[in-house]
Amino acid sequence: TAVATSILTTDRLTKSFGGVHAVNEASVTFLDGKINGLIGPNGSGKTTFFNCVTGMIKPDSGSVQLRGRDITRWAPHKIARAGLGRSFQLCRTFPRMTVLENMLVAVQPHTLGDYLGGSHAPSTVERARAMLARVGIDHLENAEARDLSYGQQKLLELGSTLMSDPPFVMLDEPAGGVNPSLIERIAVLIRELNDEGTTFLIVEHNMDLIMKLCDHIVVFDRGAPIATGTADVIQSDPRVLEAYLGV
Ligand code: ADP
Repeated sequence: TAVATSILTTDRLTKSFGGVHAVNEASVTFLDGKINGLIGPNGSGKTTFFNCVTGMIKPDSGSVQLRGRDITRWAPHKIARAGLGRSFQLCRTFPRMTVLENMLVAVQPHTLGDYLGGSHAPSTVERARAMLARVGIDHLENAEARDLSYGQQKLLELGSTLMSDPPFVMLDEPAGGVNPSLIERIAVLIRELNDEGTTFLIVEHNMDLIMKLCDHIVVFDRGAPIATGTADVIQSDPRVLEAYLGV
């Protein structure tokens, strides 16, 4: 059997805010080709970890490796170009652009200019429409993003993240504030894309989603991993129950 290789590894990653050790010497590995999950109680450092890895904030110490390449303190756009696509916990769509325009601007800004100027690149527009159909909002292509429901905006953001075909996608709370039927749609899509070769890291507070979707799960508590493994292993780990339930 093939040995799973790392897509993302951190070594003693640390970030403090004042006296708060938000991420505290966290050494973790996420696996290539898998649906990876990062869970933990509120305040356990998941978002800070996510932001350190994606370059949104600079860690105080420690390192981040993407496919064996040191990306510590790289700027976000450079990390994106190295193949890490990401979504935001709070949606970052352009509210006054249409749904289709949001998809086109996600690839390359000039794609949108070409489209609006009438000299559109048909393949890109077709790809955008196909992706909108996959996330289930193709009927809304001419609606302005601000008129979408919160769940639909999250689907648009997921679709626009996927437009650049990133081999590795990090999703920050994809289920947060989304109704159960849309959560199920997101879960199915993540599984399909993973079957097609995309690696995922899903950062979630929603334990159910992570447990049913992820092959490899890391549990954070107080800024560092307390358990790592499959859903079965995680669910029966007393440290996890203690962190979540305080038992
Ligand atoms: P999670 O995403 O797991 O809920 P966070 O990474 O948001 O956890 O927070 C971890 C800890 O760091 C919390 O105690 C939080 O209050 C603190 N923290 C996070 N961001 C900041 C910030 N910008 N300034 C001060 N404290 C912060």
